[in-house]
Amino acid sequence: PSAVSRKMRAFMEGGSWIRKMFEEGARLKARHGADAVCDFSLGNPDLSPPEAFTRSLWRACGEEAPLAHGYMPNAGYGEVRERVARHAAVEQGVPLGADDVLMTCGAAGGLNVVFKAILDPGDEVVVPAPYFVEYRYYVDNHGGVLVPVPSRPDFGLDLAAIEAAVGPRTRAVLLNSPNNPTGVIYDAESLAELAGLLRRVSARRGRPVYLVADEPYRRLAFSGHRVPPFLALYPDSLVATSFSKDLSVPGERIGYVAVNPAAAGRGELLGALTLANRILGYVNAPALMQRAVAACLDACVDVGVYERRRDRLAAVLEAAGYEFQLPMGTFYFFPKTPIPDDRAFVRLLQEERILAVPGSGFGAPGYMRVAFCVADEVIDRAAEGFRRARERALA
Ligand code: PLP
Repeated sequence: PSAVSRKMRAFMEGGSWIRKMFEEGARLKARHGADAVCDFSLGNPDLSPPEAFTRSLWRACGEEAPLAHGYMPNAGYGEVRERVARHAAVEQGVPLGADDVLMTCGAAGGLNVVFKAILDPGDEVVVPAPYFVEYRYYVDNHGGVLVPVPSRPDFGLDLAAIEAAVGPRTRAVLLNSPNNPTGVIYDAESLAELAGLLRRVSARRGRPVYLVADEPYRRLAFSGHRVPPFLALYPDSLVATSFSKDLSVPGERIGYVAVNPAAAGRGELLGALTLANRILGYVNAPALMQRAVAACLDACVDVGVYERRRDRLAAVLEAAGYEFQLPMGTFYFFPKTPIPDDRAFVRLLQEERILAVPGSGFGAPGYMRVAFCVADEVIDRAAEGFRRARERALA
């Protein structure tokens, strides 16, 4: 008999090759020393948080007052939500007030709150593939079913594929831009077309299909690229985001959800999100972090550092003969593996002491994710290994 539920057992077995890969990485580091392994497997931002955040955190620590660490409204502090709303209104191109915002435990907490609020068992969430591995679990947590649809070869939205996938049980379309793992930023024209499609579908069935944006990388857009406002596109829309990447604080678990003020049933939706925040066990987003981020909403790590690394890694991958799209944002490359079997190729890279993640985990076999939250020196040191692994794969 299993000590755990059948579902969790299946999840653990399904994820076992990912675990094996991490174990292999840990073994390589133990054997050769962490400095001898080029680890491109983790999306854990290595830059220090901006000074403005550190100052703001210290200030927040000093603000002792009655109930400074007490329970609060489940949606978060009113004054924090007010500030975040003003900030998000500019990014999203719609007027937002404190009541349209809910502070959450990161974007992950925010997405779970959203799916808890809108999904009935069997409801479907359509997502372009490749997609962030965790989506499948987040949707399943609330009885939903994730429906991945292929993207165009340049990782842009394939609107015909999305239209074909939207069915009677579709409750939401979920978009992540800038995208993990592809680094693509969806252009304003495709987004407008998608909004038009959802308006037609929603009108036909008399019930909205939600457009949900997962935007933790919004501020990590490289020169020449802009992430278009999202809420301005379509009334029945929500944004989940976090400060994890732009302030380099993923361990602090702080983010927010913003709801379009024009959404049908907005009051009921906000009520459900707030209740979900409580009953999922988060209760509220961490108090200290709410105060810390609210006082430095314009701060961001130096995106130029990630952009220079992108260019450095692009040069390495190109010289080694890989095929890839240049990321427009994030800190991920998603090159084609030289052979179709991405897991086998990632094993060849491991033999060169290079760690990457097979695309299969993101619903895109034949690719791999290379995360560049690493020093320039690691990128340079990997150049030979990337070249040799490709040559060996094709030999
Ligand atoms: N969505 C995407 C696409 C991500 O890449 C991540 C984290 O890597 C998350 C959501 C979760 O973000 P957070 O750690 O802020 O909850």
